[in-house]
Amino acid sequence: MESLPQRENFASISKEDNLLPKCILCNQVPELGIRDGFLLIGQFVCSKCEQKLLTLSYNDPTYNIMVQKLREIIYGSDRSNHSS
Ligand SMILES: [Zn+2]
Repeated sequence: MESLPQRENFASISKEDNLLPKCILCNQVPELGIRDGFLLIGQFVCSKCEQKLLTLSYNDPTYNIMVQKLREIIYGSDRSNHSS
């Protein structure tokens, strides 16, 4: 009994759609497609990388690389040249 309406507003993703999301962190396309991860400001992050981020420690260089990439996405997308 699943009568709850799902609040997914992805424009009808068909099964034969080969526009699968590619993870911005590992450049992999997850088997389950867009369901196997989440969108961050229009960029896809797969669940594996999400797990990695959650489990890595601050000391791990991989963590820093991932965080750096995420920062670029979050802060670097709309940088206008307004320096003086
Ligand atoms: Zn990934």
